[in-house]
Amino acid sequence: MGYEPCDAEREAAEDAFYEAAYEQVGPQWAEDHGMYFYEDAVREFTAERLQSYYVAHPELAQAAHESLLYAESLRVSFPKAALIFAVTGTELAVKNVFLKPIVYGLVHTEGVAAFVTDLTTQHTGMERFQSLLAEILTQFGGVDLKTFKRADSLKTLWQEIGEVQKARNSVIHRGGPASDDDADLAIAVAGTLLTEILPDVLTKLGLHIHPPMTICGRPHPPEGSH
Ligand SMILES: [Zn+2]
Repeated sequence: MGYEPCDAEREAAEDAFYEAAYEQVGPQWAEDHGMYFYEDAVREFTAERLQSYYVAHPELAQAAHESLLYAESLRVSFPKAALIFAVTGTELAVKNVFLKPIVYGLVHTEGVAAFVTDLTTQHTGMERFQSLLAEILTQFGGVDLKTFKRADSLKTLWQEIGEVQKARNSVIHRGGPASDDDADLAIAVAGTLLTEILPDVLTKLGLHIHPPMTICGRPHPPEGSH
């Protein structure tokens, strides 16, 4: 007579089997699944989603722009303070002005929301998530933040952002020095994001800016007032 496992033993064996199967197959499956959604996300994303976010938030870039103006006003007498506020302007621009509208568009793309949520909560997913955001900004905004270079620079804007953040952190956390060049670079980086790249992205979406920094989607001649 053979041994008959009881229900509990059978369940335990099943659990062990699925656990082992997941270990074998799961990571690969997740990898494939993720890639599927990655392509899906880019395919299903629409310019209208991006556009409507900007139209609904016409003041989106104002805080970043005010930080930049403040940095410029401090530049001559207080280059350290100018560095700090210029980098704040850059960080606000990258997060609020370029990335947030895309994240918003993604979470309203059917089937992609869960994937995005997973990636944002998993450290390992961050790199891929950033690639996804960069890819969408490239396709729909016409600018590749990772490869874009300022007219007079050999480095990418992305590298320069890293450099001025480093200089800023050194000033804030260690009381480190800041050269006039650091302050100038930080101001140039923030200025490029807000007065060069942003207008281009908005133009591509059929939008424009009214000075100092209000986003507008109304169709009217550029010189017109409303
Ligand atoms: Zn307008």
